[in-house]
Amino acid sequence: MAIRFFNTMSRSLEEFHPLAEVEPGKPCPVGLYTCGPTVHDFAHIGNFRTYIFEDVLRRYLEFRGYQVTQVMNITDVDDKTIRKALNLQIPLAEITAPFIEAFFADLKSLNILPAQYYPRATEHVGRMVEMIRTLLAKGYAYRSEDGSIYYDISKFADYGHLAHIKVDDLKSGARVAQDEYDKDTASDFALWKAWDPSDGEVYWDEYPDLGKGRPGWHIECSAMSTEYLGNSFDIHTGGVDNIFPHHQNEIAQTEPCTGATFVKYWLHSEHLLVDGKKMSKSLGNFLKLRDLFDPARNSSGKAWSALAVRYLLLSTHYRTRLDFTFSGLKAAAETRQNLVALASRLLEQESDKPFEPEIDDLLAKSRARFVGAMDADLNTPEALAAVFALRRDVNKIIDAQGDIGQEAAGRILHYLEDLDRVLGLDIVQGARLAKEGGEVLTAEEYALIEARQQARKERNFQRADCLRDQLLERGIILGDTPKGLRWTIDPSKR
Ligand code: AMP
Ligand code: ZN
Repeated sequence: MAIRFFNTMSRSLEEFHPLAEVEPGKPCPVGLYTCGPTVHDFAHIGNFRTYIFEDVLRRYLEFRGYQVTQVMNITDVDDKTIRKALNLQIPLAEITAPFIEAFFADLKSLNILPAQYYPRATEHVGRMVEMIRTLLAKGYAYRSEDGSIYYDISKFADYGHLAHIKVDDLKSGARVAQDEYDKDTASDFALWKAWDPSDGEVYWDEYPDLGKGRPGWHIECSAMSTEYLGNSFDIHTGGVDNIFPHHQNEIAQTEPCTGATFVKYWLHSEHLLVDGKKMSKSLGNFLKLRDLFDPARNSSGKAWSALAVRYLLLSTHYRTRLDFTFSGLKAAAETRQNLVALASRLLEQESDKPFEPEIDDLLAKSRARFVGAMDADLNTPEALAAVFALRRDVNKIIDAQGDIGQEAAGRILHYLEDLDRVLGLDIVQGARLAKEGGEVLTAEEYALIEARQQARKERNFQRADCLRDQLLERGIILGDTPKGLRWTIDPSKR
């Protein structure tokens, strides 16, 4: 069976057939462009809902044998970054650098695999300029009175197709200078914004035919995606708010330049909400990942592990809205811990009891359900249900038999590790960590230990030390030994 994805372009489920010819015995290449962060601030966990969806998409394609080239741009120049630089009177690169670093640290914590390329907009202006020149030469763009260059949406017959909007004739000719606007104001948009004092020090003046100015946001992604993935590529993703205007404008800019269909499959994830409203910077209802690590910085008063957040975000299908609550996060932390507990139990099976083929049947059944669910437009809740059904069956067998033996346990652990290539939940790794520690801790305490290990991995020693102190307050004394992490319990504090 082929994988099926919901393509925003057709608003229907379509079988996935990559653009490249399949060569027998060779992994088939797939090009994936995922719109990345605008680095004027920390990303919030709403943004990470989209990035985790994209990570699972990429991981699943790899699980199914495709060779994915993923490109995620970094928007390090746009209206928002410039506004912040001007407000704080700091050069643009100094505004964006710490948020780029924080973004990569958060990706690591959440087990989001690194993309092959993270192109930065400021390093690709030359290609944007080339595209703007082509659009001018072909009559798709024009210069306005203030020297800015606009895209004329009336020239692109298919304008509105992706976003499923009809642009009435009256509106074309109206212009919008901002990078972001809504469907009601579909109008000509800026490709190159002539410098004005509100841009401060941010401008490019080495292109005399365009004039002193800077690129609009939309042309950035047209230039960077085609540079790394070619004129036509397989999949382009983002959150649903990217459909219009951003992705619609990317198509309108790119196709007249290349003469080719830009993207075959458009996938968009639904929003993370808070009390029914989109989590966003502008509404102020957002949570950063680092707020969740620190009990003093979130309203639950607890520390949460990044993998609990990952579990929560995977537990709802990517095209369904999800309301964030701390009770939901608590349930996610506990549910993930139940999977880790299964792996822990399997690691304790030490007898050399002969292997019973019944186990292979269970694994085959579970795998078929998992793959079937993921093939159906990445149905992660159903895929997780397949893992939980296996957990129930395996627990039943161990309850009945006492010990299923090392070989059977090893096969199940191997299977869980294999699925975790897609889920990225560190199910078996979490259990190994607990086994090495040798003490039974609560789910929250394990989460703190995991968060501390992550922080060390990221060389964020300040955070690692803060988490170690929190554990110490609970009577858990950590020690890094040549054999790995160990902990002992101070009974006076328990
Ligand atoms: P931005 O940095 O605002 O360009 O957003 C980066 C990515 O996060 C884009 O793909 C957005 O669509 C996505 N995004 C923003 N807010 C949310 C949210 N509340 N839930 C899910 N995705 C979001
Ligand atoms: Zn983009």
